[in-house]
Amino acid sequence: MDLLTQQEYRAIAEGLDLPGNAFIDGGYRPAISGKTFDTMNPATGKVLTQVATCGPEDVDFAVGKARDAFEDGRWSRLHPSERKEVLIRLAKLIKRNARELAVMESLDSGKTIFDCETVDLPETIHCLSWHAEVIDKIYDQVAPASDDHIAMVVREPIGVVGLVLPWNFPLLMLAWKIGPALASGCSVIVKPAEETSLTALRVAELAIEAGLPKGVLNVLPGSGSEVGEPLGRHMDVDMISFTGSTATGKRFLSYSAESNAKEVVLEMGGKNPAIVMDDAENLDRVAQHIVNGAFWNMGENCSASSRLIVQSGIKEELLTRIAHHAKAWNVGDPLDPATRLGALVSPAHYDKVCSYLEQAQTMVFGGKAEKGFVEATVIEADADSRLAREEIFGPVLTVLSVESFDEAIALANDTEYGLAASLFTANAKRALRGAWALRAGTVTVNSFGEGDISTPFGGWKQSGFGGRDNGIHAHDQYTQLKTIWLDLSDDADEAVA
Ligand code: NAP
Ligand code: MG
Repeated sequence: MDLLTQQEYRAIAEGLDLPGNAFIDGGYRPAISGKTFDTMNPATGKVLTQVATCGPEDVDFAVGKARDAFEDGRWSRLHPSERKEVLIRLAKLIKRNARELAVMESLDSGKTIFDCETVDLPETIHCLSWHAEVIDKIYDQVAPASDDHIAMVVREPIGVVGLVLPWNFPLLMLAWKIGPALASGCSVIVKPAEETSLTALRVAELAIEAGLPKGVLNVLPGSGSEVGEPLGRHMDVDMISFTGSTATGKRFLSYSAESNAKEVVLEMGGKNPAIVMDDAENLDRVAQHIVNGAFWNMGENCSASSRLIVQSGIKEELLTRIAHHAKAWNVGDPLDPATRLGALVSPAHYDKVCSYLEQAQTMVFGGKAEKGFVEATVIEADADSRLAREEIFGPVLTVLSVESFDEAIALANDTEYGLAASLFTANAKRALRGAWALRAGTVTVNSFGEGDISTPFGGWKQSGFGGRDNGIHAHDQYTQLKTIWLDLSDDADEAVA
């Protein structure tokens, strides 16, 4: 899709019809309490609209509707190819409304329209179609057994699931979860992040238009404590799939343990290393990858390469090239298609990122922060500093230097996180040894990336728990295995001993 001009995007923004009510049982409705909260545009500080503040009573109501839908089979027992058709229609409807959704996403989150149009929307559409296309091609299994028996291992949808989302990729994280959850036949309750509820609400409406039966996809805006926690503790929710910070993710394990032992899958934070060895080919290309990995989406990316580990002999040259490429990452109005760095998602998050900038002792370049916007920043730091160890979630790259390959790997692994890692080297043996030694869910060699929809994505250590998003592996989250034995012997009566 061709990009429009800043003026054209502003005109679309002016005319948008923003959703505000919760979406439960096939339609918009206010919170039972009648309460609302303001959702704002972080780029202007202005209120965009009021959104329903759901609470535990809305969670109960929505879980009841989702359970009814699940049990009567209106979605869960459809032929997989029928679910496929509906989800493909949803993907097409999102495509038809892509421009409106891209502008809504940018306004609500501060993300650039450039990213929303070129990454978030196309990937959301692709993700939903991919999971739709997969669902009627997954086979169950027959286990080895004697002639007198048959043992089947089948997958069944897990039931009513709670999907708790972060604010950094509101639409895309929604798609990563509802794609496989709905394809598998589950009924879902989505809890978007408070900062960014709008696009999830609009997608729920489109899903009904696509033919999804009512009660199957519900969206409940509200706070973590008033919606997220009641979902996590609900006795009739079978599974929670969460993406967000490590601290909040771990709470869901307690909620589960203290309620009904529901399944929990967590995608959490990262402080992802990018190792550059002095034998890396084409340092200029390496610099481009590092810049993209560190600053894309304002660094509000769990798999951002936020920790550069570079062999000391090439450090100066690499930093010069990084500084050169970072110049292209201009800060500006998110609705200007030329802008690469928009606003951070909220004043609170902006203050958090600024507090890290204040700790910088050796600023290589950048560091300017103003009214919710932060420029691309590179800081040299000690390996044990907070800058080097904590997830900043802003456009801030921390540089550490090492002397050897072994030192680089040890430093890369010296973290509580294990989401993603990258390694730049022209030495094939080192590339493989490094890929095996790095303790992370995704390792990229001579590039930065998080894979694509076909490969599982998730974290080791305190970056993840219980399962994976993306790939066919994502369907494991939303299905349960059932073993079915059938006795086929003629003299079954005699066999009972
Ligand atoms: P967050 O604060 O952990 O929030 C995530 C979600 O949990 C939000 O919907 C939030 O609701 C809810 N929540 C907050 N407190 C809760 C509680 N006590 N009980 C139940 N739910 C609660 O994370 P975030 O700040 O939105 O997102 C940034 C984090 O997400 C980063 O750490 C990043 O690394 C991580 N992330 C990970 C991945 C991945 O795949 N591994 C992908 C993207 C982002 P509110 O709206 O009220 O806050
Ligand atoms: Mg907002």
